[in-house]
Amino acid sequence: MNEISKLSGPPQQPKRLGLFIDGKNEQRDELEFLPRSSPGYGMEVTHVALGTAADVDKAVAAARRVFDRGSWSRMPGAERARILVKAAALIREHAEELAYWETLEAGKPISQSRAEINDGAGHYEYCAGLAQTLHGQTFNTYGDDLFGLVIREPMGVVALINPWNFPFIVLSERLPYILASGNSVVIKPSEMTSYTTLAMASILQEAGLPDGVVNVVTGTGPVVGQALAEHRDVEAISFTGSTRTGEAVLRASTSNFKKTSLELGGKNPQIVFADADLEDAADGVAFGLCFNAGQCCVSGSRLIIEKSAQEEFVSLLSEKLKRVRIGDNFDSASQMGAIVSTQHRDKIESYLTLAQEEGGHVAYGGERLSITEGGRFLRPALLAGITNNMRVAQEEIFGPVLSVMTFEGQDQAVQIANDSPYGLAASIWTKNIDKALGMIRRVRGGRTWINTTIAGGPGQPLGGYRQSGVGREGGLTGVEEYTEVKSIHVGVGKRNHWIS
Ligand code: NDP
Repeated sequence: MNEISKLSGPPQQPKRLGLFIDGKNEQRDELEFLPRSSPGYGMEVTHVALGTAADVDKAVAAARRVFDRGSWSRMPGAERARILVKAAALIREHAEELAYWETLEAGKPISQSRAEINDGAGHYEYCAGLAQTLHGQTFNTYGDDLFGLVIREPMGVVALINPWNFPFIVLSERLPYILASGNSVVIKPSEMTSYTTLAMASILQEAGLPDGVVNVVTGTGPVVGQALAEHRDVEAISFTGSTRTGEAVLRASTSNFKKTSLELGGKNPQIVFADADLEDAADGVAFGLCFNAGQCCVSGSRLIIEKSAQEEFVSLLSEKLKRVRIGDNFDSASQMGAIVSTQHRDKIESYLTLAQEEGGHVAYGGERLSITEGGRFLRPALLAGITNNMRVAQEEIFGPVLSVMTFEGQDQAVQIANDSPYGLAASIWTKNIDKALGMIRRVRGGRTWINTTIAGGPGQPLGGYRQSGVGREGGLTGVEEYTEVKSIHVGVGKRNHWIS
């Protein structure tokens, strides 16, 4: 990677990014490039190569060649682990540069980007352990003449299609897990946020990953993403993004019955009981709403507050929201950054209008803020007078907009929480342990929290119920998802002949 000398503001010139195929950075003359303007500054920061279906074919062929050669797929787990650990060390060495470009392309505050890069390195370290400990089962129960083994094998070529909201952390929650068992990968990052994915491919190469094991084809979803989803030489696909695109990916993947893992949208409840530590809960709900400017699949976007505590809680929450530091992305004190694109900001704002059309109102925030020239910043918004059947309570807004609703009794809280096409995440706030455990068992969500939100480590799987997805990423499950299971039956001793 090239070192950047000035890491405290937008670059003088946009950086041109090529494709990364078979260990080579491709900057062919005939490639077209798409400019990416920074959400926090409105100026062009990168020019991203628009890959084609032919580039996808080339990348898949490279991934297949190296897989068949076995230089990664059959490498001992301990050696694979050493490369993953080295990659983690290199991520930490280049952390400032990675955080800088993540902030520029995705619009995150620099402190958040730094934390995400650091957490990303942790996933490579965690997967180094799994690369060595992945194992199967034995069956010693068939009698003297038969012995059984179940082994796990890498699948082959895996396609990884990622979104723009967490370019590096979503990559880190998937790539090392897919690599741990020996798969090869072709990645398509979002066309808006490709830098850190390309940088990671170079880091892995520097760490010793054989050429062709990780390839990056940048470009648009309908061209590159679709070609990957349809490709007949790709065995599995990991997709993170909207439920609508997930559906298209699932359909395309039937071309050769790929194993498909989808992490999609959410409309995640924050259920707050009157017996919670209301100050803690207000802080947690504010964080769950404002983290990544609400552009987060597990964002707590529905507040379901016990009626008796509504007034006190909403007042505590409003006070918290007033104090969120929304600011210049390169100010290390900033807590909330910019909205990813003008189009996306318009979409978020259209839901504020819709809330009023549906009979609710904006009780706090929602207005644009002029913080930097060309930056797209929004104040977080509270929607009041909302019932759960309204579109603002059912649809994923993917911005800092919270629908506030009340409940009386646990049954009603569960009913509102589960009345959603989604089932990605949920948080429960109460100091009563019986209530907390009873409720967490009843809410439909793949990633849940008690008295906290959006917290965790690499060991626990992520994924959703219902229209929030299929399959799980992360943890041991995240490695096993990208393995084939083979049963081996071994005849022991002289065969007892069928034809005598
Ligand atoms: P998309 O679902 O459209 O994009 C996610 C990824 O899929 C991107 O890399 C995109 O490429 C790619 N893609 C797009 N079309 C296809 C296709 N036909 N085949 C294969 N891949 C494709 O999300 P958006 O970025 O457009 O965001 C829209 C909404 O999705 C958001 O408002 C939010 O509601 C939700 N979302 C949810 C996320 C989550 O974490 N659950 C993450 C991101 C978005 P490209 O963008 O380069 O065209």
